[in-house]
Amino acid sequence: MNAYLLSIGDELLIGQTVNTNAAWLGERLSQMGVDVVEGRTLTDRSARIQSALQDACTTANLVVLTGGLGPTHDDLTKKAVADFLGVELVRDDALWNRIQTYYKKRNRTVPERAAQIADVPEGFEKLANPIGTAPGLRFQGAASHGALIVVLPGVPSEMKAIFDASVKPLLAERTDLRSTSHRTLQTTGIGESDLQAEIGDADALLPDRVSLAYLPSTSGVRLRLTAHAPDNDIATQLLDTAEARIRERAAAHIFAVGEVSLAEALGRRLSESSLTVATAESATGGLISHRLTGVAGASAYYRGSIIAYANDVKVNQLQVDADALASHGAVSEPVARQMAAGVRRVLNTDIGVATTGIAGPGGGSEAKPVGTVWVGYADAHGTHAAHIRFVNDRSMNKELFATAALDMIRRQLNRRMGKVAASPRYES
Ligand code: ATP
Ligand code: MG
Repeated sequence: MNAYLLSIGDELLIGQTVNTNAAWLGERLSQMGVDVVEGRTLTDRSARIQSALQDACTTANLVVLTGGLGPTHDDLTKKAVADFLGVELVRDDALWNRIQTYYKKRNRTVPERAAQIADVPEGFEKLANPIGTAPGLRFQGAASHGALIVVLPGVPSEMKAIFDASVKPLLAERTDLRSTSHRTLQTTGIGESDLQAEIGDADALLPDRVSLAYLPSTSGVRLRLTAHAPDNDIATQLLDTAEARIRERAAAHIFAVGEVSLAEALGRRLSESSLTVATAESATGGLISHRLTGVAGASAYYRGSIIAYANDVKVNQLQVDADALASHGAVSEPVARQMAAGVRRVLNTDIGVATTGIAGPGGGSEAKPVGTVWVGYADAHGTHAAHIRFVNDRSMNKELFATAALDMIRRQLNRRMGKVAASPRYES
């Protein structure tokens, strides 16, 4: 079974509203084994809606429209759908009574236009709206070229409620669903192209029917594996094999399977090994702390941060050597190491991690361009530092610096535990 999504509303086209409905429907439908083959965002104009319906109904066997079901003048989806199918809008008495009762109960006069909500195109079946007034609608017949048309309100909560209550059970009965399973391997500390080079040709590496997608973000590159199989057990086996083969090539960069954040994955490791951490943040200005404390239970392993933005704070609070600062500059290896060691000492933790860098847009030089960061690390065995060069804008650089610091802890823990230890690889 395949689906076509039509998102209706000028607000979506002018960027006033993000089209979260299409994203949600795309995820839900593909989880159920429906191939979402195409989607379109449309202006509130009947002619556009009708021509899109023509394409959709001849392309897919399920067409889902969202938006424009309400009572305002720009809500013309139902009329456009009725015109496309060559049917009339008919007042639904039961629905009209319900709407009147809805307003009476709230001691409000029924707005004139509310009656429009009770108009249903001939031949359509209503899909109850558990949380709003406008019901969803469905139709299937010769006029739709056999496609099942489902019309849902634009309000995301109503759209989701109707989908789950009425559309999902309808689709679950279908026998032409595919079992599509996804598994996400989360990597960090390596750029997309380097990762691709390490993994090599995915078609040759992975079993048939498994595909691989690279999804980069500021916390790393997600590897999304997708298996198409006749049933879930086979899909799981295929994904297990695929994951094992990717781990043979890139295990050092993988920090979690599934939608787990780097801070969460790291938090689990720290809890398990009963280690505590403190951060000394210059370039990241508290962002590492923010990421670590975003995880419930962080107090078990996280002690705190010294945001040492100014040089004298580095000296006075973290015991960084003023001479090192003067001779190497704040963004340097010795200062990063001393900041990490200093915070570890001052806050009395097992591990200290520090950032000192140039987030930009100003402050860069030829020797230390914008995007340069030194990440310092200290534990009972000594100190360690890594120099990384990113190239993005200020807020992105801060995110990437914080990710690099969290990844530094993760990689050092791996090294201590004798696991595969590899240095991070960043592209610039
Ligand atoms: P209403 O009865 O409230 O008028 P409706 O079915 O007519 O509902 P719209 O008028 O198109 O829906 O949109 C209602 C609200 O839902 C608006 O705030 C709109 O921004 C939001 N919305 C509409 N379409 C989407 C979408 N695709 N993704 C996210 N939000 C949406
Ligand atoms: Mg509306």
